[in-house]
Order: sequence, then C-alpha cells, then structure tokens
Amino acid sequence: MRRSALAVLAGPLAFARAAPVKTGGFVFLVILLTAATQIGGVVVVLCIPVFTWTGRHLGDRKLLLRAGACIGIYACAYLGASLAVIPLAGALGRAPLPCGLVGEVSLKPRTYLTCLLNRHYAALPAGQALQEITNEFSKEFKGARIAYLDAGFPFFGRFPMIPHLSHGDGRKIDLALIYAASAATPSPIGYWGFVQPRPGDPRPCNGTKGWLRWDMAWLQPLLPEVRPDERRTAELVYALARSPGVRRILMEKHLRQRLGLDHPKIRFQGCRAARHDDHIHVEFAAN
Ligand SMILES: [Zn+2]
Repeated sequence: MRRSALAVLAGPLAFARAAPVKTGGFVFLVILLTAATQIGGVVVVLCIPVFTWTGRHLGDRKLLLRAGACIGIYACAYLGASLAVIPLAGALGRAPLPCGLVGEVSLKPRTYLTCLLNRHYAALPAGQALQEITNEFSKEFKGARIAYLDAGFPFFGRFPMIPHLSHGDGRKIDLALIYAASAATPSPIGYWGFVQPRPGDPRPCNGTKGWLRWDMAWLQPLLPEVRPDERRTAELVYALARSPGVRRILMEKHLRQRLGLDHPKIRFQGCRAARHDDHIHVEFAAN
C-alpha cells in the first residue's frame, strides 16, 4: 500500500534509475496525454500501481497480454475520470457542450473524438449563448445542425490547449462552416480543409511565413471537394454576431468578402495565427 502511494506520488520518476528509457517514454506519454486531454496524464500516473500489480501477476513473458491489460485498465479509468470531472467542472463554472449521442440536437461535435478528448468544455454563459443561437438557427433552417470543433478543457483558465493560443478560458469555441447539401466538412476533424481564396480575393498573408499559420498544402488534394453553403454560413455568422453573448468572431478576409459579411464583431485574426477559412472562431463574453 505504502509502495503504491509512493509510486503515484513519484509518478514515472520512481522508475527513472532502474529503467531510464522506459521512464523517458512514460514521461513523454504523460505529457502527450495531458496536452491532448488535460486529465489523461494524471489518470495514467494514478494507474501506475494497477499497472505494476498487473505486470507482477501476468509475468514477464506475456508482453502483449500485459500491454493489452494496461491499455484496457487505462481506457476504463480514463472514461470513468471523464465522467467524474463533469460535476467538478460544473462547480468551477464549465460544462460540456452536447456530444449528440442521444436524440436530435441542434449542436453537436464534428467528431466524437472532441468529446472523448475532453475538448468540448465551455464556460457556462458561453455554452448557454451558443446553445440558444443554434436552437434558433435550427428552427429557422429546419433542423440544421451546427458542428463545433475544439472548445476548451474542463479546468484552469490558462491551461494551453494545443494548437490553439487562446482557448484556455472556456470562452472560445470553434465552429465548422456549413457545407452544401448538408455535407460534412472536407476534413474529418473539421480543421485544415480550407476554403481557398479565388482569383482577385484579398490575400493579406500572401508570402508571409508564420509557424502558426499552416497551409497544409500536401493535405488539400487528399480532401474531398465540398462547396460551402454560403447563405447558411453567412446567416449563422450574423446570428452569432447579433448575440449579445458573442464578443468577437475571427475569419479570413476573403471568406468574409465571399459571404458578404459586414459587422464590427467579425474581424481578421492577422497573419501570425492559424487560418480561419476552415472554421469560425467565436469568442464569447465573460457573462
Ligand atoms: Zn479557435
């Protein structure tokens, strides 16, 4: 019991002397899971005593069996922890956006991976405002559904949500553009399937190289060609802009021009940030 508690407290470093390569790999895994899901790194550290116990009982030779058992244990612990943090996050002012697992909803994630990775949390006023906007939009456009991409993690205001610079406070939510004939976004995760500027469109970042502005040129030919539903996307952006709960919307200049959008809340993010012609970045007011 004492050894288990020490293992949890020391985390992977407890094994550093005996197996430095394994420890390095484990530390990397903890960092990766924390960066991707916020709680995943803590869960894997808490599982160390169970992994150790499992390894001892299954023996050294059954490597595949041990790996499978550890992955299964981790998956159960992670899912349990993901459910357990919902009331805790709620007490601290954040709630998960609907995952759309049951019934008809006006707002759902583009991919269930967003919910699985706990990247679907929003500050309570932001989540409520978005839900109201999407309910109204769905009524006006007969069952239209809005797909969200990354929102925020369950806890902490300044916790980095890679690759986003500003999603830490739970007041920023990315939404997918709407595509013709209710098609899904070209990219399966919603990001990086860009609506490319047409000849003559404004290109303020042409020739600008920034480490955050990814063009993903290699990916574009691999994605299906889907036409954006310009009318519905424009109506959605206007509905967002009209809401007192929305503070700012970020979008590429050429897309704003193409959709005929003109509103003081709709801004260009600049060239030192991610492109915003594959999604709409919405910033909500604090309350
Ligand atoms: Zn964003």
